[in-house]
Amino acid sequence: MQTLLLWLFYLSSFYAFIPGILTRIFGFRVFRRGTGSNDFALTFDDGPDPFYTPRLLDLLKQYNMKATFFLVGSHAEKHPEVVKRIHSEGHLIGIHNYVHKSNWFMRPVTVRKQVKRTDDIIYSITGERSSYYRPPWGIVNLFDFAKNTGCRIILWSSMFNDWRSKIGADKLTQRMLAKLSGGEVMLLHDCGTTMGANPDAPEQMLIALERVLKVAEQKGMRSIRIDDMMAKESKAKAKKLSPLKRMIVSLWLLWEKGFHAVFALETVTPADPMLHFRKRAFTGKTVVMEDGSLLEKGDQVLELHFDNKKLFEIGSRSRSEVQLAIKMIRAVQKDLPSMANMVLERPEYKDIKGLYAVTMISRGPEQFGFLVMDLPRGLFASSSRLYLKLLLSVIHPKGQARLKEGSHIMEPKMLMMPVDVLIGRYAEKKSQLQPPSEEQQEIQQEHVGDLAVASASQGM
Ligand SMILES: [Zn+2]
Repeated sequence: MQTLLLWLFYLSSFYAFIPGILTRIFGFRVFRRGTGSNDFALTFDDGPDPFYTPRLLDLLKQYNMKATFFLVGSHAEKHPEVVKRIHSEGHLIGIHNYVHKSNWFMRPVTVRKQVKRTDDIIYSITGERSSYYRPPWGIVNLFDFAKNTGCRIILWSSMFNDWRSKIGADKLTQRMLAKLSGGEVMLLHDCGTTMGANPDAPEQMLIALERVLKVAEQKGMRSIRIDDMMAKESKAKAKKLSPLKRMIVSLWLLWEKGFHAVFALETVTPADPMLHFRKRAFTGKTVVMEDGSLLEKGDQVLELHFDNKKLFEIGSRSRSEVQLAIKMIRAVQKDLPSMANMVLERPEYKDIKGLYAVTMISRGPEQFGFLVMDLPRGLFASSSRLYLKLLLSVIHPKGQARLKEGSHIMEPKMLMMPVDVLIGRYAEKKSQLQPPSEEQQEIQQEHVGDLAVASASQGM
């Protein structure tokens, strides 16, 4: 018996409570609130009601406000003329089951039938199908998630106990005014015949609503349909970058421009810039290179700089880290042969010992023939670290979040490529540059799983 109870407990929490909590807390796969400063959304549940809904429609028309009505199918069936009016006056119609019953008590197949039946009724009256669904009492169970209904689930950001008449118009007005702000999704009821409600409760709601609409009008605010609010929301999301980030990006690009000018950086492929470089004397500690030769202080190297604008473009277009890394690798691959040929052809590069760069890297550059080394400790290493972190937080698709996980890959490293390796690997390949084969790409994907490349410039 105890085991049976325990099982029932597990089952019920799995079926009903957990998805309920998830949707309430995280807004997971449901819409509860919009953004914006002047628009809010009035939503009305449980109607249509032959007495209250027409009065509500009059009020909305008077103030030129639009709303969303979540209709109970059986009510819609009884009062098609009200449904028709809701639709013809430009409001949005959503579904609120056929009978007002919680989905907790219904099997998934029953929920689906209820939604379908209500949708059919609405369609037969208005000629339009609805794709917005609000489960009674906002309760969503696991099977609602499984696209059981094929609808967007709409909850709310504020409700006011307006289904009980004892709250009274004054208190209701107060509560609603307190919540009157942009993006708010207000839940109200234009029908009081459902379980737990008072039949005359909408009377108080209508009084309070008129006062609230007056205030909204004075403030220049308006109620809009849920679908319009959602459309605005996705538009706003498309402009991903926050003003702060945009400012950082433009400052950083400006700084880079200045740096390029001051240090007279050249660009490998000016038409499609990815790598910039300048000739300079190596200033670090002596490095033993792959072939045993030494790179010493004073030796001439070509210092590489990634094009930050390009990195930023690649970063903001990449959906995942792997994608970002692969795009960067391709871009670098494109430039190395030209670099090698330049070193061969230009007399002023005769004394070059190798390529040198400081980047934030985990794995990946080795496959180009680079030697990866720790930066000597010191002010340069720590300032590079800071700069590269900032850079990566801006260019990386996951930005800051990425920085918090796995800080070990955030160490700036020194990259060296002896000039022989550059020429041996890249110089003669200029004419036969080919995209990597499928197999190579797979290997690359494995290798660069958490590659994060960003350039650092010593001039900071
Ligand atoms: Zn309801």
